[in-house]
Amino acid sequence: MDHVLSIADNYIFTPYVYPTSWPEDGALRQIITLWVLTNLGAELLYMGFGALSFYYVFDHKLMKHPYFIKNQVRQEIQLGMTAIFWMTFPTVALFFWEVRGHSKLYDNISESSLGWPGVFLSIAGFLFFTDMCIYWIHRCMHHKKIYKHLHKQHHIFKIPTPFASHAFHPLDGFLQSLPYHVYPFIFPLHKMVYLSLFIFVNIWTISIHDGDNRIPGPQIWMINGAAHHVDHHLFFNYNYGQYFTLWDKLGGSYRYPSALLQKGPHDHIRKLMKEAAQSQ
Ligand SMILES: [Zn+2]
Ligand SMILES: [Zn+2]
Repeated sequence: MDHVLSIADNYIFTPYVYPTSWPEDGALRQIITLWVLTNLGAELLYMGFGALSFYYVFDHKLMKHPYFIKNQVRQEIQLGMTAIFWMTFPTVALFFWEVRGHSKLYDNISESSLGWPGVFLSIAGFLFFTDMCIYWIHRCMHHKKIYKHLHKQHHIFKIPTPFASHAFHPLDGFLQSLPYHVYPFIFPLHKMVYLSLFIFVNIWTISIHDGDNRIPGPQIWMINGAAHHVDHHLFFNYNYGQYFTLWDKLGGSYRYPSALLQKGPHDHIRKLMKEAAQSQ
């Protein structure tokens, strides 16, 4: 985040916002700027990609499903935007710690002991580590003593739209995002790769809520897509994973997507429409 911070300082905050007497490396100034940038960035990513996905990918016929609740999209957006607002506070504490040089993030490929292969290895490591951690955090969120206090808010939406992607209790959302922030404090990672992965995970989270069940054939056994995640919303104790099906298979919670067996929400809508046409 130090590059983002210095670009924002150079072009906006130093010339137009803060008094010249306030140094750029002042702790409070950095915290305030990080909070503004993180909040704006995350809300824009959520609303921007959420809206693109809602209008161009999400099948609006799904809104006719009996499980689709009244004013659902408005509820999802309200919950999502509120969650991001509150999640930003603890997230900024981690970003601040990182900006102060306590992470293992590096600037140049030459700083990686393995060079370019090290960069690709770190991407694979990031995806594996965060997928594993999110699986177990998400599974804990379904424990009956925790569920009703936190994670239940995300499961109000049985037929999610892309806007459900960030619709969580703020503490639930933050705990599930924690692996992304913890990774660069444990493992080396290139700064631009980290920023790109941060954007990627937000888009991925939107994509598993978009109801688009197309997954390239050969990848169906290993990629956790929208078809898997809609079954998580419908049948609850299955498919907790984020990108891969690995931990669901190891943890005994894997369920082959009902949408791919022609028993998903789209099929239910088709059946209802056929019945309605026949009764006319
Ligand atoms: Zn869940
Ligand atoms: Zn979900």
